[in-house]
Amino acid sequence: MIKIERSERLKKLPPYLFVEIDKAKKAAREEGRDIIDLGIGDPDLPTPKFIVDALRKAARDPKNHRYPLDQGLPEFRQECAKWLNKRFGVAFDFENEIYPLIGSKEGIAHIPLAFIDPGDIVLVPDPCYPPYRSGTLFAGGEMLKMPLLEKNHFLPDLKAVNHAQMHKIKMLFINYPNNPTAAVCDKKFLKEAVDFGVKHNIIICHDASYSEIAFDGFKPPSIFEVDGARDVAIEFHSLSKTFSMTGWRLGFAVGNKEIVAALAKVKSNIDSGCFFAIQWAGVAALKNYDKHIRSVLKIYEERRNVLVDGLNSIGWHVEKPKATFYVWTHIPPRYTSAAFAKELLEKCDIVATPGNGFGENGEGYIRFALTVDKKRIREAVERIKRKLQ
Ligand SMILES: *Cc1c(COP(=O)(O)O)cnc(C)c1O
Repeated sequence: MIKIERSERLKKLPPYLFVEIDKAKKAAREEGRDIIDLGIGDPDLPTPKFIVDALRKAARDPKNHRYPLDQGLPEFRQECAKWLNKRFGVAFDFENEIYPLIGSKEGIAHIPLAFIDPGDIVLVPDPCYPPYRSGTLFAGGEMLKMPLLEKNHFLPDLKAVNHAQMHKIKMLFINYPNNPTAAVCDKKFLKEAVDFGVKHNIIICHDASYSEIAFDGFKPPSIFEVDGARDVAIEFHSLSKTFSMTGWRLGFAVGNKEIVAALAKVKSNIDSGCFFAIQWAGVAALKNYDKHIRSVLKIYEERRNVLVDGLNSIGWHVEKPKATFYVWTHIPPRYTSAAFAKELLEKCDIVATPGNGFGENGEGYIRFALTVDKKRIREAVERIKRKLQ
């Protein structure tokens, strides 16, 4: 037997949040308990049939069986460009400004390898989606946390960013609509981020995975709706949430062509692209976006209303989020986030994600994902009322 010793970079990482929660959930299910899972943000809605059909058709064609490599299918990038133009009113060159990803998580986790050397600094929101942190650590970078505070509507205070060596800061991650806080931003904030990036020579990585999951008529902006963004920014898009395709692994990056090219160079040394048939399914998805999206939003909006109205009816104070399929809310002050999540699981058989799992500024909050039907959400509220109040 050899001594198996993990690298320092791996030792530095905490266990991936959802893996831990999944273990606790499985254990509870094995005991035969009726678990309501509001934990991980993974849509319960099936992928629409027209997308599955496009995959079936493409999977039968031997042309699609070979390595997709690098830029992959031109038709997919063309369709991304068309969709971006229709949705945000911005034109992109599909050959140089758009690049397919094996899910946006993959691109997000890899981009620090393109720009970060040991000792360089990445600005990361806190709380945040965990891969901003792990990607930074894998590249040997340092993190400078930007607290997302309720009093600032969960937007980072860029004016407060201060470091003795500002020139060491090379990248900034932002994410709106935001996971986990469900906060949204306007173009004014995105403009501030772009100006900040230009002023300090910092690459802006905008994670727009939830750009299509928004309610009450709100249409989240792309960073490229802002002047100057193309000089400093890359934006990550995902088909996962919009089209309930989390298992398929398809997303794309769009933006400044030098930034895109550097990410492409990293990726071409690591992976060999996304299965062509899945890219064809992505073409079908994006082409039918308008027809598809309305019914999905109606479902999440109803669920949001059931959960928020339900919690408020039992004495909580929760605001209706304008976007994402999460409800991020304060917990009763006598608990820590972890203790409250544990109580929810043990007493109510409900899985939710403790806010501190996303960073220290998430302490005092819990995140509910709207990924079960409204009847089950009603049942969850009922259980909280009976067992925890
Ligand atoms: C779900 C999610 C992603 C990643 O989605 P993919 O399935 O990898 O495309 C990226 N960012 C945030 C904030 C997410 O919640």
